[in-house]
Amino acid sequence: MFKKLFIPGPTQVGPEILQTLARPQIGHRGKEFESLYASVNSRLKEFLRTRSSIYLITASATGAMEGAVRNLVKKRCLNVTCGAFSERWNEITVANGLPADALSVEWGQPNLPDSVDKALASGKYDTVTVVHNETSTGVMNPLSEISRAVKKHPGVLLAVDTVTSMAVVDIPIDELGLDVVLAGTQKGFGLPAGLTVCCVSERALERARTIEHRGYYFDFLDIEEYHRKNQTPATPPIPFLYALDKRLELILAMGRDRWFGRHLAMAERTRRWADEHFARFAPKGYESVSLTAVKNTRGVSIEALDKELGKRGMTLSNGYGKLKEKTFRIGHMGDLAMEDLETLLGSIEEILGLK
Ligand SMILES: *Cc1c(COP(=O)(O)O)cnc(C)c1O
Repeated sequence: MFKKLFIPGPTQVGPEILQTLARPQIGHRGKEFESLYASVNSRLKEFLRTRSSIYLITASATGAMEGAVRNLVKKRCLNVTCGAFSERWNEITVANGLPADALSVEWGQPNLPDSVDKALASGKYDTVTVVHNETSTGVMNPLSEISRAVKKHPGVLLAVDTVTSMAVVDIPIDELGLDVVLAGTQKGFGLPAGLTVCCVSERALERARTIEHRGYYFDFLDIEEYHRKNQTPATPPIPFLYALDKRLELILAMGRDRWFGRHLAMAERTRRWADEHFARFAPKGYESVSLTAVKNTRGVSIEALDKELGKRGMTLSNGYGKLKEKTFRIGHMGDLAMEDLETLLGSIEEILGLK
């Protein structure tokens, strides 16, 4: 039996989307593909409301993160970290031999704009990376405030991992002046993994033009050239483009506001439930909209709980890494509705005897 996914990725994919994955293949250098690419792109533009180029990168988000630092970092990169995924960005930068420093807070805390501003005042950095929604801790960083702090330092580019916030909350990419904004499709978009939506600003492309060794597979300038022809440099996962096209059609038909509102309603319901039976892990005002990290104040076995939920056709996530058993995470992204969430919360109450 397949379980309904309340984990923060990969997320639940409904039958309407799954059907699109079974379509016959087409060639990726023909008109048919170009019109598919153009359709996805114009729908993404309408949904994300940005003038940036929107690339479809064949890789999970980690690949595009690597691309971002390869194309942007010339001098030194400031990796602002608050959990496992933001730390990953620091690891990627270092692994690529690029000069970098991590600006860290304790897991469970948000990154605050003042510390970013202070670090940038040193003049050492030309790039900042930040994770909007830290999936490992369920903390949503104050992206507007952080971007404003970065904007005080002209010439510093800002790359944002929005893997679990794109298609979950509205992100005003152009207003905030974000240079790279990326998300794998298996989180907020509710699709399988393997494709990353990556918005790249003109300023980022300008920077890339001054960098000699940008790598090969994730070279933004190469990707841009093909993008202008509604193509990709290498063979793309064509079924995923059909799926993304369908997802965007569904979202736009529902209306952006309703789509985002649905997520917020599920988040608020889960937070209230956490307050009632456990506690929130994220500080007030910094709770994620895409997943809720619950502090395991009752000391229950999360592993055993998930096993019981599995018998009922559902699964949630234990805490990430060092937060295992100390927290658990309920994802409310993808093809999930309030009724599904109510079933999950009711089941947890039953299994733990909270009623
Ligand atoms: C899942 C996730 C990633 C990594 O994505 P992959 O698709 O596994 O490469 C990066 N950042 C955040 C915030 C995530 O939630």
